[in-house]
Amino acid sequence: MRDFAFCPFCGTKLGKKEGRKEPRKHCPACGFTQYKNPVPSVGAISVKDGKVLLIKRGVEPAKGAWVFPTGFIDEGESPPHACLRELKEETGLEGKIIRIVEAYAEEADIYGSILVIMYLVKVTGGKLQPGDDAADARFFKPIELPDLLFNCFKDSMARVLKDKLI
Ligand SMILES: [Zn+2]
Repeated sequence: MRDFAFCPFCGTKLGKKEGRKEPRKHCPACGFTQYKNPVPSVGAISVKDGKVLLIKRGVEPAKGAWVFPTGFIDEGESPPHACLRELKEETGLEGKIIRIVEAYAEEADIYGSILVIMYLVKVTGGKLQPGDDAADARFFKPIELPDLLFNCFKDSMARVLKDKLI
């Protein structure tokens, strides 16, 4: 995440709040401090009949890559709700959370540091239809899975297979 140069609330030039190993940007006028925490997001490993649901990204970044439905948690939204909402928006399918697989720290160029909570989801209904940002969405047998992009996807999928969760 980039540093602010000026206070986003009052426009004063930011100084530094000392007393930490890495000083935080701080506004001397209104007291605003820029915290650089990871952005919370969720991902869904959705299963049905022993197969796993992936979407093909239709937009940059990583256009053309197969990924799990993933998205940011809205303000005030619970992580499981965000997971099932993203699943519905990106694939048209409804699901039920089975369990958390793992939580990961990832770095993304445009967003900075991201916290990704990966869930295992059982598909319970809906009609498979790729969302606006997806070029395709389909189920894969574990043996047919394409290469997955990010460590959070690779590692969580490997855990699901190792623990025989599908
Ligand atoms: Zn300020």
